[in-house]
Amino acid sequence: MPVMNAQRVVADLRELAARTSTSDGAQRLAWGPVWRDARDWFAGKIAGLGLRIETDPAGNNWVTLPGASEKTVIVGSHLDSVPNGGWLDGCLGVAAALETLRMHAGSTPPVTLRLVDWADEEGARFGRSLLGSAAAAGALKIDDVRELKDRQGTRLVDALAENGVALDRMLDAHRELKRIDARAYLELHIEQGPVLESMGKPTGVVLGTFGVERHMVRFTGQAAHSGSTPIPMRRDAFLAAAQTALECREIGLRHSKPTPGDGVVCTVGVVNVEPKIVTAVPGVCEISLDQRALSADVLGAMLADAKKASQKAAKENHVSVEWREIWRINPRPFDPALIRLCEEAVREETGDAPRLPSGPLHDAAEMVPHMPVVMMFAYSSNGLSHCKEEDTPGPQLEASIRAYLRLVEKTIQHVSGD
Ligand SMILES: [Zn+2]
Repeated sequence: MPVMNAQRVVADLRELAARTSTSDGAQRLAWGPVWRDARDWFAGKIAGLGLRIETDPAGNNWVTLPGASEKTVIVGSHLDSVPNGGWLDGCLGVAAALETLRMHAGSTPPVTLRLVDWADEEGARFGRSLLGSAAAAGALKIDDVRELKDRQGTRLVDALAENGVALDRMLDAHRELKRIDARAYLELHIEQGPVLESMGKPTGVVLGTFGVERHMVRFTGQAAHSGSTPIPMRRDAFLAAAQTALECREIGLRHSKPTPGDGVVCTVGVVNVEPKIVTAVPGVCEISLDQRALSADVLGAMLADAKKASQKAAKENHVSVEWREIWRINPRPFDPALIRLCEEAVREETGDAPRLPSGPLHDAAEMVPHMPVVMMFAYSSNGLSHCKEEDTPGPQLEASIRAYLRLVEKTIQHVSGD
């Protein structure tokens, strides 16, 4: 195996953080000047290897190291951050991918290596996450994002143009991706949650990204005077909603597997009640429900159970209930053969290979329909991310980087032997 240097990756990350952060955290907001500066910094590293960056029509940056075969292993993540973000989210995967190029630069690897830095993974400015990777995947609906504006009123289409990206040509990135004989996409990312820390493990094998069912559930009863309406005669929409929310927690727990990492999640994050008067029985109550699971069957069963629970609660409280879908996405399970290689790599480096699903979506999820994919997670201190406290302690960080570099080498061998 070519010589790997995890400390060099950490040094790069420190350098990037010093250049693109304030005392409040990372400021690499997509399509803005600090993000462009981060990309300039990265271009300097690539130039130092005698390679060059090509930008696709969606603004994603690619670096190609041609191999003996056109079969291609893709490595990468994203350099953009949320405002006041952490020093590892996204750029850890790009810096580790850079190290794989360093390991092979000046030689001809058995397969072609391509590094990608996806544009606007976070969606922090215009509200559309995975913008660049969705375009490359052919999944972006241009008309859905055409009218998006940021908080200052700047239109997405203008911010893109400022960066040389034409909104109406973004999907051409898909044509370019299809021309690559892509055999694997490998992404290292921080976990952004507390599961690995709770297990005391530095590095985890990611099984896929959760599917999501996100709905608004609206209960309609009758607003009435709180002093004069006896409890049995009320049509209290809030109580029906509250009963449903509690039951949804039970549904989530019932469908969870025993290990915390495999568990499903569900959240009632919004409660709107009308007329919102201390002396009135609530006549209308609307709650949000966000359910997530790695198995499409489990997710479907959770949704069906929740609907049943809402109907039961509605009946018991003499109110009606209506469901409105806000957003849904299917689970994106990763490739079994790459999961096995990932387990080997993590086990060789850390002695154990915990498996966990990803709650957050990642660019990797967009690649699942197009090529075999796997992700590796590095431990997040206190489960924190998207804030300046985001961190992975040195030993855990370096172990995760080494495990990832091993995974890339194993995948190169695996793909070249296909
Ligand atoms: Zn990220």
